Amino acid sequence: MFFIGIFGVQNKTGQIASEAAVICPVCGRYGRYDILRSYYYFHVFFIPLWRWNKRYYIKTHCCSRVCELDQDIGSKIEAGRSVIIEREHIHCADRAAAPSCPNCSARLDPGFVYCPYCGSSLGQ
Ligand SMILES: [Zn+2]
Ligand SMILES: [Zn+2]
Repeated sequence: MFFIGIFGVQNKTGQIASEAAVICPVCGRYGRYDILRSYYYFHVFFIPLWRWNKRYYIKTHCCSRVCELDQDIGSKIEAGRSVIIEREHIHCADRAAAPSCPNCSARLDPGFVYCPYCGSSLGQ
């Protein structure tokens, strides 16, 4: 990824947890999902100075969905606690209305700047 300029705003999305052989809270099948954390940060010379707008997402492998996760559930998972994610903890955009990645055509939450599946820019 290229950075131009000595300061600016970047979006960072990273995986903080991964669960295997669990019941997928999106489609109800046995599957696998990852928990992602996304935030924006302001940097000077690539040193992050502050962060805001932290959000958590669940990325399922069984049904290829990315849904927003409740903030308190996400921070519990980030703190290393085992949490069972229920259907009411996740907020999926309407599949038909969700934007899709131009590169790999994964359905994505509108908040993403980079595709969490293939890393390509979504051009927002
Ligand atoms: Zn699923
Ligand atoms: Zn993609």
